Amino acid sequence: MNYDADVAVIGVGSIGSMALWRLASRGVAVHGFEQYGVPHDRSAMGGESRMFRSTSPREPVYVSFAAESLALWQQLEAETGQRVLRLNGELVLGPETAPHIVNVLESVRAYGLEHELLDERDIARRYPQQRIRPGDIGILDPHAGFLRPELAVLAAARRAGALGAVLHAHTPVLQVEPDADGVTVTTTERAHRYQQVVLAGGPWVDRLAPQLRGKIQVRRPIQVWYAVDDPPAYTPERFPITLRPEDDGFYAFPSLDGVTVKAGPTGPFKQVVPDPDQLDRTVGMDEVRTLNEIIKRDLPGLHPDPIRVSAYMDGYTADNRPIAGHADSSDRVVILGGFSGLGFKYATAFGEAGAELVVDGASRFDLKPFSPDRELSTWPS
Ligand SMILES: Cc1cc2nc3c(=O)[nH]c(=O)nc-3n(C[C@H](O)[C@H](O)[C@H](O)COP(=O)(O)OP(=O)(O)OC[C@H]3O[C@@H](n4cnc5c(N)ncnc54)[C@H](O)[C@@H]3O)c2cc1C
Repeated sequence: MNYDADVAVIGVGSIGSMALWRLASRGVAVHGFEQYGVPHDRSAMGGESRMFRSTSPREPVYVSFAAESLALWQQLEAETGQRVLRLNGELVLGPETAPHIVNVLESVRAYGLEHELLDERDIARRYPQQRIRPGDIGILDPHAGFLRPELAVLAAARRAGALGAVLHAHTPVLQVEPDADGVTVTTTERAHRYQQVVLAGGPWVDRLAPQLRGKIQVRRPIQVWYAVDDPPAYTPERFPITLRPEDDGFYAFPSLDGVTVKAGPTGPFKQVVPDPDQLDRTVGMDEVRTLNEIIKRDLPGLHPDPIRVSAYMDGYTADNRPIAGHADSSDRVVILGGFSGLGFKYATAFGEAGAELVVDGASRFDLKPFSPDRELSTWPS
């Protein structure tokens, strides 16, 4: 039986680029297929920055992924000489009883993670950029910061290439058909044969993974850049990542250009994208009005009229957990998808888990909560 290579990774975005690198690092002959360029900004990875943290405002299960991801981000930096991660800290704000504060504290205590608890006075003194709300506390995670997504994807893909991986950019995959001896991957040009396939198609993942049909909802989070009045106060040294994941909450990054701070709303109102090929990248003023008000109130040093806006998308599952594991139809197909707004920080660990599933048939990570076979409600169409 002739194969084009051992493994194909379909989708060389956030997670696929890391899977490609981790597979190539193991000496696996691997091909990557990407419908756009590598990197690009038409799906989940654009917009200059993504948060990284060691604690978890969602579930403690992510803490071990954070630790492994951190080690691998640092390994990627060492192997490529690119600085993709900066740990300038994260300040999580909210009332003591808010679920995200409770969850962060739970993960901190369960795993003995370094952190600082700040009261209203501490926050006002150390972070005068923040206008905190009465009764707020702050948790500072010193092992948090921001990733540079486009640079990280490029670095991983190039490193994979240096280790022997072959990249087919601008090559959409039309069909993936596993059988007893291998997997046929069909593009517009021809059919390719591999022993195994990793599906990392982000917002499109369910198109090639029939078992996920109806289980991935594509949503369109926006990111908004505001001019700062006093740029030195918003450098990474002085302004940690800020997170207040409430209905009228926001996140904000330090200024990377000395002119703007990027922020986004954390409320539940993200547009649903019926067809990821038709992502509407125009952001209307009505979409940013609420965030402008939040910024005016909570970060008064920003000029509350945006000077740049952008729309991206990600695939969400009904339980907000990613999907990582073998497809039910074939143990030759590994699915890594549905990253539900949290995937970039863990991209290296999930890429590693995917490589382990391919090479060893099992992963050292606890992937049970992310099983493709778990009970997942179907989204209304
Ligand atoms: C605005 C925004 C802000 C976010 N902020 C954070 C954050 O701060 N921290 C964090 O950890 N996470 C964050 N996330 C979530 C995180 O970015 C995503 O979960 C993660 O990037 C998803 O990665 P992915 O590989 O699944 O998707 P993508 O990065 O979109 O990769 C999928 C790739 O597959 C390709 N593809 C699909 N189908 C095919 C096909 N048939 N043939 C060839 N190629 C194909 C696509 O073109 C794409 O390149 C954010 C997401 C968004 C949208």
